Order: sequence, then C-alpha cells, then structure tokens
Amino acid sequence: MTSKPFDLAGRVAIVTGGNGGIGLGMARGLAEAGAAIAVVGRDEAKSRAAVAELERHGARAICLTADVGDKAAVAAMIDGTLRALGRIDILVNNAGINIRKPPQALDLDDWDRVLRTNLTSAFLCSQAVYPALKQSGGGKIINIGSMMSIFGASFAPAYAASKGGIVQFTRSCAVAWAADNIQVNAVLPGWIDTELTARARAEIDGLHDKVLARTPAARWGATADFAGIAVFLASPASDFVTGAAIPVDGGFSVMG
Ligand code: NDP
Repeated sequence: MTSKPFDLAGRVAIVTGGNGGIGLGMARGLAEAGAAIAVVGRDEAKSRAAVAELERHGARAICLTADVGDKAAVAAMIDGTLRALGRIDILVNNAGINIRKPPQALDLDDWDRVLRTNLTSAFLCSQAVYPALKQSGGGKIINIGSMMSIFGASFAPAYAASKGGIVQFTRSCAVAWAADNIQVNAVLPGWIDTELTARARAEIDGLHDKVLARTPAARWGATADFAGIAVFLASPASDFVTGAAIPVDGGFSVMG
C-alpha cells in the first residue's frame, strides 16, 4: 500500500447519478481526495450545476448525459470519459429510482424500469468499464445498495429485488475480477435526506418519525455522510476489501 492510503490524485472516477443526493455527496469526497470526476445523469442542467460546484472547489470535472439503463449510452459514457479525462480508475454505480406500489399493483413496466435503472445499469456500466480498469492496472467499483438489500418492504418489491440483486452482483464481480486488481464493494445506505426520500416522506404516513425512532444515531443520514466511505472504497486503503456490503445507516440495520 502507498504511504498515502486515501490519496486519489491522478485517479479518474465516474459517478452515475452524481448530479445530486448521495452520488454528489460521494463525488464531493472523491474530488476532495484528488480524483477527477465524470458526473453522469439524464438531467443535463443538474449535472452542469454539480460540475460547476466541484470545479469551484478546485476539482477537475466533466458532465456526461446518459441513461445508465441503455447499453449504447453507457458505451458513449465510457468513451466520453476516456476522451476527456484519459483513464478510468473508479466507477460508482449510484443511479437509482423507486416506484412505490405493493406487489399486486406493480405492473411489468414499473418492474422493468426499476430493475433496469437500479440493477441492469450496474451490470452494463461495470462490464463496459472493465477494459479501462484493466488498462489502468486495476480499479474500484462501488455499487449502491440499500436497507432493502437486507429487509423487505410492502411498498418496494421491485426496488428491494434490485437492491438485493446489487449485493449478489457485487460479490460475483469481486470474485471474477480480484485477479485483475479490481475491488468491487457495495454500500448500503440507511434513510438519507435526498430528493428520493423527500417523495417517500410525502407518500408514506409517519415515515419521518419512524426512521428517527428506529435509527440508533437518532437522525436521518446526510449526503455528506457518504464522502468518507466513497474515498475509503475508491482508494488504496481498501485494497484488501472486496465483495463487502457495508451499511452506512446510523445503526438502522443492527437495531433490535
Ligand atoms: P436522488 O433521487 O437524489 O438521485 C438519484 C440520481 O440518479 C440522480 O442523480 C438521477 O439523475 C440519477 N438517475 C436516475 N435514473 C437515472 C438513469 N436512468 N440514468 C442516469 N442517471 C439516473 O436519490 P438518492 O441520492 O437518494 O439515491 C442515490 C442512490 O442511493 C440510489 O441508488 C438509491 O436507491 C440509493 N439509496 C438511497 C437511499 C436514501 O435514503 N436516499 C437509501 C438507500 C439507497 P437524473 O435525474 O439527472 O437522471
């Protein structure tokens, strides 16, 4: 390991869904540690604003507009990053959506959309980035799961299936690519204050207080809580950590 285990100077990271929420929280941490960032999302204006913010703090950053569930768009995302930033060392598969309906009300289009955005995207992006990571001599993939990787929820059958799948996909890639010096890990956020959960709070009665009561840290998570774990899993500090699924949840998953 290097003498600066958390240093990302000279490294290039792609962060899908990096234009807001947890993704931007991670992008800020990676940029602070010295990485150049490719911010990926569908909303170009939002991505431009995120890039401007990262640049104001001294980072090198670009934005790429892509639907991460679309194979051709993902290929263009990898090409665009290589063209603009020269190499790729880190991929954060963070883009995600939820459609809140019980299983009996979820139609096939809802199911397909959630699975494609949350799980198929991680497969497409990881497969597409693999040659570039090998070219860099190794790399890091960070997949974003959820408490729904562990628990079920009546209102989230497709989401929970996608987030359970993310953990098993993470383990499989970790095993497959260890010999290439590519470490693949998952982060399982608890309840974090973002646009995604603002909608959940509006739609689910009493959610805000239920989360507070069930979280030992007695607060909702903030996007800033994801900077440290992103740097750890993207840096040489985690070179012997692979296939792990790490909760960042204020203790939610261990509350009895
Ligand atoms: P946000 O809604 O704030 O952010 C979601 C991000 O994903 C946006 O940047 C959005 O950008 C991007 N995105 C969505 N669909 C696509 C797509 N098809 N192609 C490219 N980008 C896309 O949510 P969070 O920050 O809360 O969530 C981020 C991740 O964390 C998700 O995977 C979510 O499931 C997970 N998570 C969140 C928790 C929470 O409490 N907030 C808890 C557990 C897990 P754009 O709109 O520009 O496409």
